[in-house]
Amino acid sequence: LAGDESVLKKDVKSMYKLGRKLGKGAYAVVHRGTLLSDKSITRAVKIIDERALGHEDIEALHVELQTMRKVQHPNIVDLYECFLHADKFVMVLELCKGGELFDRVVEKEHYSEREARFCFSQCVEAIGHCHEHGVVHRDLKPENLLYADAEGTPNGDVIKLADFGLASLITPDHLLTTSCGTPGYVAPEILTSDSTHGYGKECDLWSLGVILYILLAGYPPFYDEDGSTAAIFKQIKAGAYEFQAPYWDPVSQQARAVVSGLMTVDVKERMTAEGVFASPWISSDEHASSVHL
Ligand code: ADP
Ligand code: MG
Repeated sequence: LAGDESVLKKDVKSMYKLGRKLGKGAYAVVHRGTLLSDKSITRAVKIIDERALGHEDIEALHVELQTMRKVQHPNIVDLYECFLHADKFVMVLELCKGGELFDRVVEKEHYSEREARFCFSQCVEAIGHCHEHGVVHRDLKPENLLYADAEGTPNGDVIKLADFGLASLITPDHLLTTSCGTPGYVAPEILTSDSTHGYGKECDLWSLGVILYILLAGYPPFYDEDGSTAAIFKQIKAGAYEFQAPYWDPVSQQARAVVSGLMTVDVKERMTAEGVFASPWISSDEHASSVHL
């Protein structure tokens, strides 16, 4: 990383004034940042404590940054600068003012099929684009999907995938133990694989299925009353989820078919990103294409 010219060796505060905290993840804390040279520009400043990463991860970070720069898409947050200074690795990102997808779902209890379709198509576009560039996210969950702007504003319905750069560096062990109490999105093959790279992009499609389930139902497919992670993992490995009445009664068969297609334990049988776009649930809607515009 030290030899990477695209990483600035100075304090981020020499370029940005840090403002309020926007969020926190397993590795990072994110603040609002205002560009000192032009106060009309605000961004998101993600501060990663280097001590949270292993030595190999630091090496891989270099490769990952190049990848992140390649993966540019209207539904993926832009990366502006990176800083490495005083044991802190800092990424300056496009600011998403609309908050986490999860919070909006909770607020509305659940999405209508129309809302879910609009939101979900963008998530699949973003992930499809990552996959085309050989980037597997592996840590897809509503906390990592952000709204570009507040509801009701022109960009209020635009979804941005955040936090994909580091995900492919994380070993399964790490991923599972640091998921911040939300283990419900992990794909079954990750739980059964004993090697670090024993699974591919299909795991993101499983997670998308879990996200679509939550959008439509307003609650997660895998759940344990005592909060036992082991119990949840057992359900995931068995693909043991249901479309419970009365919550699912109003949901169309076409929508359910996409959920079932994605939440298929056998990776070879699982629905792909192309399959999602070809499904009657998406393709029959004339407004579904180019949703990110
Ligand atoms: P981690 O890698 O530790 O999970 P994230 O990149 O997911 O860190 O950031 C943690 C939280 O910070 C997110 O869940 C979100 O609430 C907030 N956040 C991250 N990136 C942005 C952004 N570009 N704009 C606004 N908020 C953000
Ligand atoms: Mg995150």
